Amino acid sequence: MDYKVGRLSKQQDFKRVTPLRMVILYVLISGAWILFSDRLLSAIVTDPRLLLKLSIAKGWFYVAVMTVLIYVLVQKGREQHLARYITERKNAWAIVLLEKERAQVTLDSIGDAVITTNVYGNVEYLNPSAEALTGWTNAEATGLSLEKIFQIVNEETSEPLNYPIVRCLKEGDRVRLPNQAVLMHRNGTTMAIEDSTTPIRNRADVVIGGVLVFHDVSDKRNLMKELSHQAHHDALTGLPNRLLFNEYLNQALAQAACRQGKLAVLFLDLDRFKLINDTMGHNLGDLLLNVVAERIRETLREGDILARQGGDEFLVLLSEISHIQEVVTVSERILGVFSQPLMLDGNEVYISTSIGISLYPTDGSDLETLVKQADTAMYYAKEQGRNNYQFFTAGLNIKANQRLSTENSLRKALARGEFVLHYQPQVDMESGCIVGLEALIRWNSAEQGIVAPLSFIPIAEETGLIVPIGEWVLRTACAQNKAWQEQGYPHLSMAVNISARQFREPNFIKLVANILKEIGMDPQWLELEITESVAMQNGEASVEMLSFFKELGIRISIDDFGTGFSSLNYLRRMPIDTLKIDQSFIRDISTGKNGEEVITAIIQLAKNLRLKVIAEGVETNSQWSFLKTKQCNEMQGFLFSKAVTSEEMELLFVRPLNK
Ligand code: C2E
Ligand code: MG
Ligand code: MG
Repeated sequence: MDYKVGRLSKQQDFKRVTPLRMVILYVLISGAWILFSDRLLSAIVTDPRLLLKLSIAKGWFYVAVMTVLIYVLVQKGREQHLARYITERKNAWAIVLLEKERAQVTLDSIGDAVITTNVYGNVEYLNPSAEALTGWTNAEATGLSLEKIFQIVNEETSEPLNYPIVRCLKEGDRVRLPNQAVLMHRNGTTMAIEDSTTPIRNRADVVIGGVLVFHDVSDKRNLMKELSHQAHHDALTGLPNRLLFNEYLNQALAQAACRQGKLAVLFLDLDRFKLINDTMGHNLGDLLLNVVAERIRETLREGDILARQGGDEFLVLLSEISHIQEVVTVSERILGVFSQPLMLDGNEVYISTSIGISLYPTDGSDLETLVKQADTAMYYAKEQGRNNYQFFTAGLNIKANQRLSTENSLRKALARGEFVLHYQPQVDMESGCIVGLEALIRWNSAEQGIVAPLSFIPIAEETGLIVPIGEWVLRTACAQNKAWQEQGYPHLSMAVNISARQFREPNFIKLVANILKEIGMDPQWLELEITESVAMQNGEASVEMLSFFKELGIRISIDDFGTGFSSLNYLRRMPIDTLKIDQSFIRDISTGKNGEEVITAIIQLAKNLRLKVIAEGVETNSQWSFLKTKQCNEMQGFLFSKAVTSEEMELLFVRPLNK
């Protein structure tokens, strides 16, 4: 299109009749006429009367000519004015058209979808992007009510959303859709959109329509959802993580507070999971966590939340409980899940869990307290032999505090010299002679008196204090053995218990070698006792570690045998000398609990592997006779002697036992 826009050309400008030009022209023509005609007349006419007549005629002629001239000029001026007016109007209209076309081109090429409506919300225009996103063409949509072509629903609830344009037109202000808005395409598919609606106002500031701008944010929203999911869920099991659990719990607490309701938090910790993870490999460990998570979830009611707290710990939120019996039922159902073995990659795996329970409002009213109390109760469940559930009680907190104070006292005990070793004889079944000793630690606490090892060794393990304490035990036991040998008492092996933490210390072998060297003790008299579970944890590393000890000439025994999950493969490859049958099996002799069968099997296994067997915790003659018939090599127990002080032990050396 070629529109002439702007001012007139110079040529046209020149031709324009202006009043000033007319006046100048008039003066010039009149002056010239007067001068010229008067002189000419006087020159050619001499008769005064004729001259007068001709002058009058000349005057009239002049008037007539001027009248015509003025008429022509005025007429010409009018025409020019009209022409100019029309040109200007034309130009103005051309500008409007141009602007409109420009706006149209701009709207059409915008990536965002744009819909304009009139003040009643009827569609006036859809740009191509809006056509693509809605499935309606501009021609089809024009004149229709916006609701017809632009249907939006809440993504989560599928509820229709209020049309922002209605509010925008009503309030005359900019309106945005909520974050969960999805647009329904004409073909029924949905897409996440973000939009804003702005009113269109005329010069008088009156709303005359609205413009809706929106675009597809499906990718962005999917990414946000993915990120939010990752931040709130455990990557392995897909369960809510601690963060999301906290959100659920806080919500549930707020609701319970309003309705004066009750809720329960269950803290679950799988029993001996680390052992399974280490022995069977991390892939199977991960698989186990997934299977366990699935099984627990199946036992829960709809609305209950199961979350993975981390490692082998899970949290369960039972909201809206009306009676404590419901919590008991759920806990028992969860424990029941573990009564059957899990099939993992063709392996049958037995695992159990310990559950601690805290209740709102009795045990606490906030998130931290409830989780902490459930955790404390879970520890108590572990102490009660695992595979059970325990409710939190105020007494447990006292216990937890006691643990803390024990930890503090333990730190000082070593420096104050409050530990002592007692020794328990190991007796040959045939001869009844003492053939070895086991060093067992006691804590002679200034505040609590004599404390048994099971009350403080686990705390020392957890805090790492077992490392210096264990070193002290090793050095003291070796020094005592050497001293007895030098005093002429029989040469006996000295068994020393080694905790998991000590066993995994990088410089442990060096430490043992140095102590032996320092004391000048022949390594053949030292026997390291490692529990079955510690030995089997990370079997490869244990085989290597034990081989180093073997090379030094130190003896190795497997303590509490029968309570862990021994792999026969590792048992065969480990350079072990002795198996110590756990006292729980000895206790089960003659009680109808199959103690005999287990003991017989262990002795048989030891014989096949050419290992010595010691029975621990022998208290009765019938236990002793049974073990003797089964050809158990040695025994250790109250029937012969409990663990005694070094002075009492010296008396036992000189007064041989009669069994
Ligand atoms: P353990 O190594 O299995 O020690 C045997 C435990 O059984 C000892 O308990 C011993 O006194 C007890 N016992 C022995 N004969 C009988 C009996 O006939 N009947 C009964 N009921 N019990 C008997 P103690 O001294 O209380 O030690 C318990 C556990 O503490 C030990 O079990 C061992 O695992 C640990 N422990 C003891 N001393 C040390 C130590 O110096 N270092 C480490 N790491 N652990 C130790
Ligand atoms: Mg032991
Ligand atoms: Mg034992």
